Amino acid sequence: MERLPTKVELRKRNIPLEDDFCPMCGSDMESATHLFTACIFASKVWSMITRWCKVPELVAFSVRDILEFHNFCGLKGRMLVAFKGIALITCWQIWKARNELIFSNIIRKEEEIVSLIKSIGFLWFKNRSRFKDVTWDDWCKFV
Ligand SMILES: [Zn+2]
Repeated sequence: MERLPTKVELRKRNIPLEDDFCPMCGSDMESATHLFTACIFASKVWSMITRWCKVPELVAFSVRDILEFHNFCGLKGRMLVAFKGIALITCWQIWKARNELIFSNIIRKEEEIVSLIKSIGFLWFKNRSRFKDVTWDDWCKFV
């Protein structure tokens, strides 16, 4: 909904900024679309996530494409439920990594973000979904 306070959105609200560039890659203006889809950092994270979840590579041109990807990823049943949550957690972790870089000067590696997504996803799926019998081993194999 264009409400996430990326640099492009902050600029529209007349917030003074040093620059408009994406802090993760520096190669384009920081919009939500860039940050979550085109950014090389996000692309690497999505690539590892889709490989782990055994779904096709994500091709997204908007945040909406990410939010609707589960409809076209070929998963069913509990793996579909899991992937839907993982996609949201992935966006959340990309946003957190961006904020940690801007506000705390902490540089996160893509592998570190994927590990966080796996562990947070597991805790959510085991404790907040109806699929409480999932084991860590099965979760890591995404079966
Ligand atoms: Zn970027």
